[in-house]
Amino acid sequence: MINVTFEGFRYHKPLPDFYKIENPQNPKNEISDELLMELTQLAEKHGFTGISYSKLSVEFKEEFNIDFDNVFIFKFLMGDELIKMDPSAEKGKLMDEEFQEYGMHVYEFADFLRKNGFQADLIHPLADDLSMRAIAMQSNDCVITRSNMCLFMDGINVSFFMIHTSIENLPFKCENEMLWVEDFCSTCGVCIERCPEGAFDEDENFLRKLCTAHREGCNECLLRCPFYKRGYDKVKKRYERMKKRRENE
Ligand code: SF4
Ligand code: SF4
Repeated sequence: MINVTFEGFRYHKPLPDFYKIENPQNPKNEISDELLMELTQLAEKHGFTGISYSKLSVEFKEEFNIDFDNVFIFKFLMGDELIKMDPSAEKGKLMDEEFQEYGMHVYEFADFLRKNGFQADLIHPLADDLSMRAIAMQSNDCVITRSNMCLFMDGINVSFFMIHTSIENLPFKCENEMLWVEDFCSTCGVCIERCPEGAFDEDENFLRKLCTAHREGCNECLLRCPFYKRGYDKVKKRYERMKKRRENE
């Protein structure tokens, strides 16, 4: 557990500096498969489920005023015990501690990259001017669900940290195989029905101000979601059966 007085990632505050190694003067831009595997194993050792990679398009960079191209997304699953706790200020605090604890390891990943000759810098996970989810969507490795959550194949209870880097040859995905989720969600809607705060308008747009997920840790929509209850692969199989039935009708 981290020290609770530790001043970590906070809204409206600059990114804390816990790097032990400086960025190299002339950063390299090609990583070997072996080194990438080593980084993945280091992330897994600290409980992360895996890494996704975003290559930011020119249009995207212009839209968000971003001057970097290549992004690592270090994913971890929010703990089941915490997710199942009733919402409260205490739960909100525990969720924040979990987030901070994972975040500390991301400095170690940046240092690993810097030591090996690459530029590596954390992206502030709570920055006001940057949409982490928009950057995540550039990975073609996730989708935004009807409950406004970022779903990766690792799980719907994924949270993540990001590092931008000089490395150009990361295994970026060009196509998103998860786009079927939108069609599945259109047949479900459990998250909207069960939201205790009515945090969706009549057009089913998510109303951030009414959602208490960040304040008190409401996870009702997550707990009810088939992607949480059954996992990505099982829901995909169910969707494929459903699609076949529809085609045969
Ligand atoms: S987290 Fe809770 S309040 Fe927010 S949308 Fe989901 S069910 Fe509604
Ligand atoms: S509860 Fe249903 S509609 Fe909502 S995100 Fe999950 S699958 Fe999609």
